Amino acid sequence: MKEKISIPTDSEGYYSLECPFCKERFKALGGDIDAEDTLDLFCPTCGLVDDSVNFTPKDVIEHTEALAMNYMNRELNKMFKKTSRNMKGSGISFKYKKLKEEKPKLLTEDENMEQVELHCCDKTIKIHADQSRETIYCPYCGVN
Ligand SMILES: [Zn+2]
Ligand SMILES: [Zn+2]
Repeated sequence: MKEKISIPTDSEGYYSLECPFCKERFKALGGDIDAEDTLDLFCPTCGLVDDSVNFTPKDVIEHTEALAMNYMNRELNKMFKKTSRNMKGSGISFKYKKLKEEKPKLLTEDENMEQVELHCCDKTIKIHADQSRETIYCPYCGVN
């Protein structure tokens, strides 16, 4: 069985994103970010462009890494268990220490975010409510 490790989204399916330049947080719909033609993103705040993977916040990366690590440990535990069972009666004793699972860090929910409709690309993003809507750039096409 394959376990899919995916980047967590909020209850409405938005990814948390963080600009690698100005560190401003915003959110965009998972399906839009995963779309094949979305390679680069513009920061809604400073308008700089970078590879969309660089917009993944550090805490989200750590969260997914912990999930991946737990999955690996679980698989290793299964493997060790099987090996030690197979060795029963062979005269060789095999002991293993069960690998512990790490609790993934809880992700901080960005509160106080407002939805903004981007008419240029017909998409919706979320930005901090205190940010001026007049000066945001579209993450997909860079239109101000
Ligand atoms: Zn920025
Ligand atoms: Zn646009």
